[in-house]
Amino acid sequence: MSSRSATERRAESLPAAPFIAGSWQSASTAEAFDVVDPATERTVLMVMEADEPMVDSAVTAAHEALDNGEWGRMDGASRGQLLNALAQLIEDRTDEFADLESLDVGKPGFEPRVIDVPQAVATFRHYAGWADKLVGRSIPTPGYMGKPTLSYTIRQPIGVVAAITPWNSPTMIGAWKLAPALAAGCAVILKPPEDAPLTSFLLAQLAEQAGFPAGALSVLPGRGATTGNALIEHPGVDKISFTGSPETGRIVATAAIAGFRPVTLELGGKSPQIVFADADLDAAADGVALGIFANQGEVCAAGSRILVARSIYDEFVSALATRASKVVLGDPFDEGTTMGALINAKQLERVSRYVRIGNDEGARLVTGGNRHGSNGYFMEPTLFADVTQDMTIAREEIFGPVGAILAFDDDEHAVAIANDNPYALAATLWTSDLSRAHTVARHVHAGAVAVNGWSPLDPRLPWGGSKLSGLGRELGWAGIEACTEEKTITVVL
Ligand code: NAD
Repeated sequence: MSSRSATERRAESLPAAPFIAGSWQSASTAEAFDVVDPATERTVLMVMEADEPMVDSAVTAAHEALDNGEWGRMDGASRGQLLNALAQLIEDRTDEFADLESLDVGKPGFEPRVIDVPQAVATFRHYAGWADKLVGRSIPTPGYMGKPTLSYTIRQPIGVVAAITPWNSPTMIGAWKLAPALAAGCAVILKPPEDAPLTSFLLAQLAEQAGFPAGALSVLPGRGATTGNALIEHPGVDKISFTGSPETGRIVATAAIAGFRPVTLELGGKSPQIVFADADLDAAADGVALGIFANQGEVCAAGSRILVARSIYDEFVSALATRASKVVLGDPFDEGTTMGALINAKQLERVSRYVRIGNDEGARLVTGGNRHGSNGYFMEPTLFADVTQDMTIAREEIFGPVGAILAFDDDEHAVAIANDNPYALAATLWTSDLSRAHTVARHVHAGAVAVNGWSPLDPRLPWGGSKLSGLGRELGWAGIEACTEEKTITVVL
């Protein structure tokens, strides 16, 4: 890991401007915004915001690349080679990506090294393999007016994809959106989060180095209400892929539907982690703690509702409190740190507000609940026990290191509690009973269920939720389907 000062210098050397049609924008009347290091509250750099004319240029360049450029003519195997080249360039610079992500997001250095960057690399490699396998189908029919027919389908890129990413894991989620769209032959316009855009600039530099033609990928830094809004409203955008909050997701979906454009929404979660009495409690306590404290709890799939069988409730609450006491909260650039800073002052206030609500509504604060230190947006790992279904902290997404622990009586009760929530993204089950594991996994409302482990991220596995957690799936074949259209061609023979 590099030092913070070395990483700050690296950040300062990034282009920090919109990347359109293969060139970085320079002098402009566009506004600039600050990127702040959440662990020190210091401004890391100023970024030039993509204004409306730049959004329009990026969309025009994307169509040009598709309709008249090298990108639109490129075969799938060649696109796959570019994706593989990009994956290799990212992997070669794992430390640089990881350090920039720690500086930008506040997460401890080991997390982007172990999760975000390797996942981004794996995602580009996975989709490199798909790029030359986007085959159609030949479908037999009875024919037309007594004549035989040949009917077949071809799979074509959907066009210009707007990819809007959140600040909690911008490198990995950026890869989730870029890789399938590029593999499918779409032109992509990435709008990175204003709070954490650093690695997106590096990604654009490496995409250029890998040889992606101009216009295949543009990066438009900017705030949601300005750049983001101009992008989703632009009639030249053919598909929107969004990850973020349900509130913004609703705005994005409305714009997409108004233009009759497909949209993929990966929104928030209030995911249950269900611990049955027959579970390996040590392993479960480790896994559940990871599920709520990893990435400071700023994870869409964070297991923020911890449902524990009543017969082991007290024992498990105390095991979790022990895990919380072992969290090393501090500078993301210190080797031993296991939990870093929340993204910004607003998020710290949001999490603190939910702690106040938990106390006011009668939940029992087991540990944590306070800001840590006075410089940087650090929040203690926090656990509330004796939480009931009607309490706000059992229902709303906090997006911070706050676990709400509820008791259940039997399997049906556990499933009923798990499903009585507006979100349905992920769930984890802890049990040694195979039949119970499969039965509960079928009944719990979630896009992904993990048993005796936590959220197995893998680009081969579809990812996404329903209800307030979103619409559609990313990753695996679902990612390709979401970026392509199947066209039917019939020839009367
Ligand atoms: P957010 O909705 O505020 O912002 C997400 C992105 O949308 C940012 O790039 C932002 O600039 C942009 N944006 C904001 N307003 C916009 C507008 N009017 N038009 C277009 N774009 C706009 O979310 P956030 O605070 O960055 O991220 C936290 C949320 O994201 C949490 O709710 C979390 O659960 C969710 N999330 C979900 C997943 C998932 O895979 N389901 C993954 C990570 C985060």
